[in-house]
Amino acid sequence: MTAVPAKFAVAAAVVALAAAQKTAVTIPPNAQLTRLLSVPSPDDESSRMLRVGDEEDDICHPITRWEHLPPLPEPKRCEMRMEASGGTVLVLALVAVFTGMTQGVALGPGKLTGAWWWLFFCLIYGEAACAIGCLLGIMWGDPGVVKRSEETCFPIPAEVADRLRRGLSLEQMGNVTEDGRTYCIRCLLWRPGGLAGRSTVHHCGTCQRCVVDFDHHCGVFGRCIAGDGFAGNMGYFKTILSMAAAGAITCIAATFVEFSVNPPGRHHPPYGKHG
Ligand SMILES: [Zn+2]
Ligand SMILES: [Zn+2]
Repeated sequence: MTAVPAKFAVAAAVVALAAAQKTAVTIPPNAQLTRLLSVPSPDDESSRMLRVGDEEDDICHPITRWEHLPPLPEPKRCEMRMEASGGTVLVLALVAVFTGMTQGVALGPGKLTGAWWWLFFCLIYGEAACAIGCLLGIMWGDPGVVKRSEETCFPIPAEVADRLRRGLSLEQMGNVTEDGRTYCIRCLLWRPGGLAGRSTVHHCGTCQRCVVDFDHHCGVFGRCIAGDGFAGNMGYFKTILSMAAAGAITCIAATFVEFSVNPPGRHHPPYGKHG
């Protein structure tokens, strides 16, 4: 009675072994199984995303920071240098002429003395110092250039972003206007103040920058002159013009006073002699 169940047991064992072997054949290899069944670790995920990004890098360049934007257009540096040199020479020449004439005519030995001397000395050299200070301010100061930042560069208009991603030129595009704001296609930024109705921001073709409260690009100083009132470098510009006029007036006034105080017909006694 026990032999029959034993045969069944052996047969069942053989069938089970065969089934196990069959299963072993159809089960995927270990690596594949692991990848299918395991939950991806953060490292796996990041590496997968990195790989996908690399594959799409040739097609898509997502710009998420303003530092990723193409560089700003190059200013016309040669033209600016020529203009700035001319302006510097002009200012220094006027300073030399006005101080030299005032010094020679009214402040030299045997000329004005006392309060007159101090008045014209302080005026002419103060104006000269002020003019040179304004020259430095115009040359090195910020006229009000709109800087790139997260606030000014984003959001990038859809068409611009699309062209940048595809590496296409923006030269044929005009500035983009949205919601009362203007996006400069050359600086790749939104101009400030658009919502307030102030359209005083202008892109200077020489400096190749957008400038707030743009007045003009000065062909004498080689810089944009911009600013509301005395903001930007407008204060320097107005002051240096005033100093040119003031220098001329001081020079003429000193000459007039000198000839009034010491008329040409009156000879000063030579030094060391009296009578
Ligand atoms: Zn611009
Ligand atoms: Zn300019």
